[in-house]
Amino acid sequence: MELIILVFLIMLFLSIGSLSSVVIHRLILMEFTDTRLNLFTPRSHCPECKKSISLINLIPLFGFLIQKGKCVNCKVAISYKYPLHEFIHLVSGLSIYFLFNINLFSILIYILFTIFYILFVCDIEKFYIPFYLNLSISIIGVSGAYYGNLFNIDTLNLLNTSQFELSLYGFIVGYSILWLINFFFKFLKKQDGIGGGDFLLLGGIGSLVGPISLAPVIFIGSLATLFVGLIGKYDLKKELPLGSGFIIGLLIYLLIKFFELSLFGLVL
Ligand SMILES: [Zn+2]
Repeated sequence: MELIILVFLIMLFLSIGSLSSVVIHRLILMEFTDTRLNLFTPRSHCPECKKSISLINLIPLFGFLIQKGKCVNCKVAISYKYPLHEFIHLVSGLSIYFLFNINLFSILIYILFTIFYILFVCDIEKFYIPFYLNLSISIIGVSGAYYGNLFNIDTLNLLNTSQFELSLYGFIVGYSILWLINFFFKFLKKQDGIGGGDFLLLGGIGSLVGPISLAPVIFIGSLATLFVGLIGKYDLKKELPLGSGFIIGLLIYLLIKFFELSLFGLVL
């Protein structure tokens, strides 16, 4: 029984990884080049010769191996990103399964992981944070706190506030901190310093972890943004993928929290 579940999960995670890479690819195309495209049509095809990809070759990971990383028709190399997205989804999904088993909490964590993953890649590649996916994080954060303390994460319970209120405060604090920084930046430099998607993203992260935990997330996230800016080929004077930095910040913060590691002698 265990084995059947495991095989099923492996196929499921690979498929969701494959779906994510299609969503990432199409969201970017829809935003920047072809507004007629949508998420479901046309069928997956080779971006070079436009030939539809046969069902067998669409099988995640294995399709890439069967085709030896090349389009069967025109032999142009398929981006390594597709199997990479699938592999990361597989590893993350299995980790969540082994840590938390299958329950409402782990399913929500995996859904959040998938949404964050898509936002992360879109931001890294194009400084683009798709609005509805971004918004869905705040909705999951606030409703999760309302319905069942799903993200009972904030360390201090200030003045007996409920999880729901903490989540709302987290959203407000996250959103307004960046909005204020941008406001002053705009006042001084007469142009936006931070993309609008970043406000909502940090608001969403705040709704998940609460206002207090936002501080370490922002701190680690800012360092991560700088790090990404340095190793990626970004022009440091122009623009950095701040949203992606915050997502890394959140991930590191949650790992520290979960494994009760200490950072600079402090347990966060
Ligand atoms: Zn081709």
